[in-house]
Amino acid sequence: MTGARDIPSHHDHGPAPTRARLFVDAPLGGGESIGLSSGQAQYLQNVLRLKAGDPVALFNGTDGEWAGTIAELRKGRASVEVHRLRRQQVAEPDLWLLFAPIEHARIDYLAQKATELGVSVLQPVITAHTSVARVDVDRLSANAVEAAQQTGRLTIPETRRAVPLRKVLADWPQSRRLMLCDESGSGPPVAAALAAERHAGGLPWAVMVGPEGGFAASELDALAKLPFVMPVSLGPRLLRADTAAVAALACWQAALGDWAEATPGS
Ligand code: SAH
Repeated sequence: MTGARDIPSHHDHGPAPTRARLFVDAPLGGGESIGLSSGQAQYLQNVLRLKAGDPVALFNGTDGEWAGTIAELRKGRASVEVHRLRRQQVAEPDLWLLFAPIEHARIDYLAQKATELGVSVLQPVITAHTSVARVDVDRLSANAVEAAQQTGRLTIPETRRAVPLRKVLADWPQSRRLMLCDESGSGPPVAAALAAERHAGGLPWAVMVGPEGGFAASELDALAKLPFVMPVSLGPRLLRADTAAVAALACWQAALGDWAEATPGS
């Protein structure tokens, strides 16, 4: 037997103790019994290979995260017995992502990564050069739920229907700032622009990226005139829309968001 074989590995004891974590649309509290959807039951049974008696964690976006055990699990039916609060609900960043719809695989990626990066709203916007006309909001939402479950968030981002850019701007809440990812290069570098905003901490924000065809010059001109818009450059390379969104959200989180705060326990 080689030395490496002697090292205990979870592979020797069946599947790793995966912490199953599910979003449910029901009030949570000790002693409750929560019925799961058939999709969730199949996920617990066929993907995580859990059985009655195994632990799961539940959250609903408002009541924190609760520890429970699977009471019933068979043939696409599952229920969970809720025991105790594991994590208090906490405030999460108020950060919207506005993006022009892009093709399927990229929009799935965008919804997942934006959820991991802590956005509170996913808002598709139709711009002049947007080439994808329809947005499947259910699919957007399914991606957001799955990513929120895995990333340990206590909320699910709200997924909204696609709206024309003109309308989004007409309805804009004036206290919310909008960081515009401007590929024309006329905006200041993102790090400097965000650093200059630190004094006005705690404001609600949004980040916006354009479609693969970019923003029209007329759109960029009109946006630059709005008092709540802050155009920024993400460097000398043209990024795909999904990359630009992930990069911009990371910059915002590091400068103004919850990456800028102390981590729990420190
Ligand atoms: N086809 C366009 C590029 C669009 S890239 C062109 O050739 O100009 C898609 C979106 O990503 C852009 O609208 C912008 O919001 C963002 N983006 C990409 N690269 C960027 C950069 N270097 N700086 C700021 N935003 C960028």
